[in-house]
Amino acid sequence: LDPTTNGYNSEELDIEKKLRPLSFDDFSGQDQVLENLKVFVEAANQREEALDHTLFHGPPGLGKTTLANILANELNVGIKITSGPVLDKPGDLAGLLTNLEERDVLFIDEIHRLSPIVEEYLYSAMEDFKIDIMIESGPNARTVQINLNPFTLIGATTRSGLLTAPMRARFGIASRLQYYTTELLTTIVERSATIFKMPISMEAAVEIAGRSRGTPRIANALLRRVRDFAQIKGNGTIDITIAKYALKALNVDAHGLDEMDNKILVTIIDKFKGGPVGLSTLATAVSESSETIEEVYEPFLIQEGFIMRTPRGREVTDKAYRHLGKIKANTQGG
Ligand code: ATP
Repeated sequence: LDPTTNGYNSEELDIEKKLRPLSFDDFSGQDQVLENLKVFVEAANQREEALDHTLFHGPPGLGKTTLANILANELNVGIKITSGPVLDKPGDLAGLLTNLEERDVLFIDEIHRLSPIVEEYLYSAMEDFKIDIMIESGPNARTVQINLNPFTLIGATTRSGLLTAPMRARFGIASRLQYYTTELLTTIVERSATIFKMPISMEAAVEIAGRSRGTPRIANALLRRVRDFAQIKGNGTIDITIAKYALKALNVDAHGLDEMDNKILVTIIDKFKGGPVGLSTLATAVSESSETIEEVYEPFLIQEGFIMRTPRGREVTDKAYRHLGKIKANTQGG
């Protein structure tokens, strides 16, 4: 994915921009994280220093990129955005770093995917605001050290387990983002509908929020599709009837579970008699990496009570059977 567009086309990017909260006050949820960040930002502003390097981790779509932009706004500085897989040569990184002004933010999405060479290059930049660059080539080649303006690196990752220890140690601030409650997502849906100038009933907002997998990005995406239905098949306002109609037509799961969520549940039930099954066995069965299951899918399934983690592995709950309309096999003694 192109880090500057996140895979969106230009029309979607425009919408993205409009919906994205720009200040602490616009941002709902993640209260604990936000409270701390406000203190750190205010302190850095008072001292006229760069904010400490900050790491955001957590599942996709919970607002890591949004928060990085908000931090830059609240620090009143510029932001440069890139991502781990894109930065494949130290030279690319050097170009970015030397163009940062004092206190600017450099945002690196998917920071766990930096190549080892680039990562190592970043260490001295983060620690001493210095980098070595190679000048000339052939027999005259030599490195010179150059000073950088003090800056803030903001890293985002869905897979904190894959970050190397030295990398992790260089972040003064590390925050884990949590899934949003339906209540918070309702607020976000209502805010987005206001931005779209689309009237929406409370009930409809709750319905969309409840099916958004605890994720603002999904809530906004569903709202956009429901809005299309309201415009074409309804009367231009989003009420509960049109919301339910649209969500059904879109095939959105009642709990907002996505394809992989459901695949995980079905696999545990059909292939492993409901579990317990070990993480790596499960990963192989659904053709996904253990880390992704553990860091991206499982937290939501556990939070919503579809899966339990037991000492012997992952087990589905009665709620999962009910959700999938499956009958629990009568296991002996189980
Ligand atoms: P990824 O790492 O996958 O890029 P992310 O965690 O960086 O995901 P964002 O791109 O920041 O997620 O957010 C996704 C969308 O959700 C954005 O459109 C943003 O407007 C919206 N959003 C995220 N958090 C909030 C929030 N707390 N309040 C309102 N909207 C939010």
